[in-house]
Amino acid sequence: MTNKPRYLTKSRFKIGHDCPTKLFYTGKDEYFNSSLDDPFMAALAEGGFQVGELAKCYHPDGHDIKTLDYDEALYQTNELLNKRSVIIYEAAIKYKNLFIRADILVKKGEQIELIEVKAKSFDSSEENPFFTKKGEISFSWEEYLIDIAFQKYVMEKAFPQWSVSAYLMLADKNTKSPSSGMNQKFRIVKDEQGRKSTRIVTPLTKRELDKQILRKVSVDEAIEQIRGGRFTEEGLTFRQYINWLAENYKNDVKIESRISKNCGACEFNPSVEIEAQGYKSGFKECWKNRLKWKDKDFDDALIFELWNFRGKDKLIAEGTYKLKDISEDVIAPAPDKKPGLSPRERQWMQVEKYAKNDNSIYFDNDGFANEMSEWKYPLNFIDFETSAVAIPFNQGRRPYEGIAFQFSHHTINKDGTVEHKSQYLNTEPGVFPNYDFLRKLKSALEANKGTIFRYSNHENSYLNMIYRQLTEDKSAVIDKDDLKSFIKSITKSTGDSVETWHGERCMVDQWELVKRYFYAPDTHGSNSIKYVLPAMLNASAFLQEKYSKPLYGAKGGIKSLNFKDWTWVQLEDGRVKDPYKLLPKMFEDVSEKDFAILSEEDEIRNGGAALTAYAKMQFTDMSDVERRELQKALFKYCELDTLAMVMIHEGWVDMLRK
Ligand code: SF4
Repeated sequence: MTNKPRYLTKSRFKIGHDCPTKLFYTGKDEYFNSSLDDPFMAALAEGGFQVGELAKCYHPDGHDIKTLDYDEALYQTNELLNKRSVIIYEAAIKYKNLFIRADILVKKGEQIELIEVKAKSFDSSEENPFFTKKGEISFSWEEYLIDIAFQKYVMEKAFPQWSVSAYLMLADKNTKSPSSGMNQKFRIVKDEQGRKSTRIVTPLTKRELDKQILRKVSVDEAIEQIRGGRFTEEGLTFRQYINWLAENYKNDVKIESRISKNCGACEFNPSVEIEAQGYKSGFKECWKNRLKWKDKDFDDALIFELWNFRGKDKLIAEGTYKLKDISEDVIAPAPDKKPGLSPRERQWMQVEKYAKNDNSIYFDNDGFANEMSEWKYPLNFIDFETSAVAIPFNQGRRPYEGIAFQFSHHTINKDGTVEHKSQYLNTEPGVFPNYDFLRKLKSALEANKGTIFRYSNHENSYLNMIYRQLTEDKSAVIDKDDLKSFIKSITKSTGDSVETWHGERCMVDQWELVKRYFYAPDTHGSNSIKYVLPAMLNASAFLQEKYSKPLYGAKGGIKSLNFKDWTWVQLEDGRVKDPYKLLPKMFEDVSEKDFAILSEEDEIRNGGAALTAYAKMQFTDMSDVERRELQKALFKYCELDTLAMVMIHEGWVDMLRK
């Protein structure tokens, strides 16, 4: 532990508000913490590092308090606050044991504006974006509002003689970028000591400063509501709550919180392998303490593994913590009106198989064969890598518009031959890639008339989004109609679409096939391709036999655009190694731990590592060698994403033969 003063800062207040027990674990090296260690990687992954700098440009001539030393930062801030009017970035404010660094502080006489800049967008046309229709604080804004409420409290206590107004500064989805190339003006640069910081490499124009894409929104009303609320089971007021967290943090006292469904996403819960490296598990300490559990209790799967189940808090309230203890009446398995397993049947299958120690695969031959009878060869498997950039690439585009920068495409012919057919990657700094991406995708998929497969909703949603971008685009896109017709032919309209359609060659969702016809206990309830692929490889002797030879990218073997003589199935302790772990590391300067976190993905979150790589290539200065290496890695990762779909399909077809 460091000797730094144990102040309750705004990030610690956020952690403590999430779960007060976490305040005891945070910052202690012995406890594993699955948050990203590298703040610049976190900023790139979030996509919002530029927003903070842009907000400063909108408040020019401010004094930047750069030092990280608490006392020095306080001294510099207090000196500046002696002025009648001043703008301070990262102003340091302290009251008793509470300490904040305000993103932007504007002082005009007795009036203080406290501005918190967030990498989040909002819709300025909404009347009360922070409140529900019932007038309560909206759940999606609560964490941001409580943070600024804390800052306002500290500021008012530290300077009671001044009047404080609080604001969030957010990207406005309703504002369009006044120019092209603005996002390339904000770069992450390294100094000679290797320290990274964000810099503006070209000053913003008057037009860029006048037509602001970030908006300052008053949050005083929401803060009043928060202040009127009660916190913890004891019903503490906001002031008492802050002081309670601060006192316990200062004295390093562990606050014992109740076990809840939030424990399922606790960042202080290392895997068995990581624990074996000597890390302590905050999660286990909490559960042992509250439930009087022993180490062996953690050998059992917990209820958090149960797929897509919303009643976890109720189970916990009833004292059910382990998967095997969930009773059938809680799940009430019953068919729905669709073919294959209903979600409840699938959940119950997961519980039953686990409780009976049954590790066998479930596969619905008839259901799958029925689906397959509708498909046309060659089968096409596609996967997209996408991002969202805070400051748009081009004039007229909005903050956080979706960017589709990469796809991979495999085919399977009727005779079973597999080929990595086409791919696309555009990471050129400052270039909006979506239309070029779409043209290349169109030409790849229109080369045949076969069925197209995606994995989850992502590809369908993104094509719908590009459809909207094309519709709204006032510039001359010569092939606009062709591109829009192509999108309609292979997608279905999404819920927010003005038009409705279902394309004649609408993509088949392999993720849905997994959910309806296939269950592998090895996936631990996840249907993410990153879990389904290793489970399938371990279950299929056919795949093991086929891919344990160096045939991938080999002459006379499977055609690949990025691999040569590659062997995908490699065994370790009798199990097939996860193919993703065989790939080269994507970032040289990132720890194994951070890369593993960035690569984690579930059925909703897609490719954090790829979008971070894209942001890095857009907004940092890299050598040509480094850029080429990163591109090579991106090609390989995306190729494996579509190969994984191919392998899952091949595994199923082999099961049909049995
Ligand atoms: S395990 Fe649960 S109670 Fe313990 S720190 Fe994590 S979220 Fe809080």
